[in-house]
Amino acid sequence: FEEIVSVDPEVAEGITKEIGRQNDHIELIASENFVSKAVMAAMGSPLTNKYAEGYPGKRYYGGCEYVDVVENLAIERAKKIFGCDYVNVQPHSGAQANMAVFFAMVKPGDTVMGMNLAHGGHLTHGSPVNMSGSYFNIVPYGVDDNGFIDYDELRRIAIESKPKLIVAGASAYARTIDFKKFREVADEVGAYLMVDMAHIAGLVAAGVHPSPMPYADVVTTTTHKTLRGPRGGMILANQEAADKFNFNKAVFPGIQGGPLMHVIAAKAVSFKEALDDSFKTYQENVVKNAQALAEGLMSRGIKLVSGGTDNHLMLVDLTSVGITGKEAEKILDAANITCNKNTIPNDPASPFVTSGIRLGTPAVTTRGMNEADMDVIAEAISLLLKDVEANRETAMALVKGLTDKYPLY
Ligand code: PLP
Repeated sequence: FEEIVSVDPEVAEGITKEIGRQNDHIELIASENFVSKAVMAAMGSPLTNKYAEGYPGKRYYGGCEYVDVVENLAIERAKKIFGCDYVNVQPHSGAQANMAVFFAMVKPGDTVMGMNLAHGGHLTHGSPVNMSGSYFNIVPYGVDDNGFIDYDELRRIAIESKPKLIVAGASAYARTIDFKKFREVADEVGAYLMVDMAHIAGLVAAGVHPSPMPYADVVTTTTHKTLRGPRGGMILANQEAADKFNFNKAVFPGIQGGPLMHVIAAKAVSFKEALDDSFKTYQENVVKNAQALAEGLMSRGIKLVSGGTDNHLMLVDLTSVGITGKEAEKILDAANITCNKNTIPNDPASPFVTSGIRLGTPAVTTRGMNEADMDVIAEAISLLLKDVEANRETAMALVKGLTDKYPLY
């Protein structure tokens, strides 16, 4: 870090302030986490200097003998974690992993079913503002009035629209996803099934959410959410699908150039961490903490979409509180609690305003916080949402108590 200070004090100041922010805020953004220092060190290593277009043993550049070792370690560890035959660790992000899979499996104009963004799906599953939504004929599915995926409706829509590909997976869905049901629907209509497990990958790795591997033709993920690795993406498949679709070719040269070898090294390090017994305990604690936070909020009269959570996140329905998601995000931020506004199913407000906030426990659990601490966070959130003027000081003291107790890095 001293090198950054001497070469570029302006950037150094930004980094220092961001470290301070991460330290003195309670991080409840469900898609964020804190990586280990070893993962960070791999990202900051000289592997960033290396061009390695191609794959281990078949590169378009010389001098790849050591990055080959590192990429193979990442691949083998990911195979072991998720119990699959094929892994590609090169996608620069979750969006890239999804784009590569689309490139490998469908053609522009084909019909693809994805979860409605407004019901918890991801942009890359067919939103009109994304490549997926403009190149393919997207038919969305969603949740029922209680906030659970409506599998009957999914089946009805699939029979009617005959998709070539069905995408399962979400960014703001608090319930266990029934991959078997998705497979049954896909088989009934002759569609391929892709599962984007970005949000729940860590839970799947630890066995606290059912794995999509036995059901999906292909699985994509990010590596930086519950999985607690560096920012990046990954594609996983069983042998049959890997033989049928050339995912490697779709990633490179299909949609990317040189892989980020420093990030792949960091992926390998984080996968080693994920293979340790302590990772299972961590993921169990993530879920326990989410349940404690959900209970804490509901017992204080705050409504959650679907009435609770099975995983690492929850969606707060603010319609009865009488404030918007945008306002809630700002109110909580003013007391050092970070979260994001989020649409709720059938949201009357626009996606920029919204009627909900999404809260997740991966980051606070990494800091070491427990179920009792979740109740303190629920109390702070409840105080702030009910009367920010009157309760800001009290809430900030609760936040400071926790951030002081669990220092980061
Ligand atoms: N897929 C899902 C389900 C996600 O939630 C996200 C990110 O939020 C992505 C894909 C995209 O990942 P990235 O931001 O790395 O492109």
